[in-house]
Amino acid sequence: MRSGLLAIPLDEAFAQAVEDDTCPLCVMLKTLELRVAEYVTGPAMMEPDFRTETNSKGFCNKHLKQLLEQNNRLGVALILSSYLSINKPFYPHTKRTGELNNTCFSCEQIDKGFVALTKQILVEYKDTPTFAPLVKRQKYYCLPHYNALISEYNKLPKKIQKAIPDFPSVIGTVAENTRAKLETDIKTFCKSFDYRNIGKALSEQEKISIENTMYFLTGEK
Ligand SMILES: [Zn+2]
Ligand SMILES: [Zn+2]
Repeated sequence: MRSGLLAIPLDEAFAQAVEDDTCPLCVMLKTLELRVAEYVTGPAMMEPDFRTETNSKGFCNKHLKQLLEQNNRLGVALILSSYLSINKPFYPHTKRTGELNNTCFSCEQIDKGFVALTKQILVEYKDTPTFAPLVKRQKYYCLPHYNALISEYNKLPKKIQKAIPDFPSVIGTVAENTRAKLETDIKTFCKSFDYRNIGKALSEQEKISIENTMYFLTGEK
């Protein structure tokens, strides 16, 4: 898969996230997943190396479902038919059979694109004057993506870290504010089960504080 297909304009993803009150890296990831699904059920069909790769790697459940959502059932059937033919027989059981559901073509492409974009966020934060304010304006960073950004920041050479010393506190403050708000909401939700609070109304956010916390902690809705 050409790396150009995994390039996403960061400013668009970050602007979208502010509008939707969500995590910008989750927006990036969703776009990447869609790009890969479109590629697999579209232009990839014409590339001879592609079938060899999907025959060896297969797809996880989540990404197979995303392929089906592209409305090319014949395309998906051809991929699966070739996968079943190439990887037979399942009995007698072999080492290869045991490894079959450990890999996913889409996961690999998405991970590759995601790591490259995470690195690019730090580069643009340092070099593109219009991008840093967008990072600062964010209202949300989910925990896995906050961790991903900090981990990439920590890998930077010290000289580059020193050029953007405020980066960890900028995103960390946003993540901590979300954690604190969720803690308050979910405690109120828990207390609402106490007989002393019968009849006390919960806010919309308090009512869905379990779902909100699950999204914050996992990055998945
Ligand atoms: Zn996220
Ligand atoms: Zn996958």
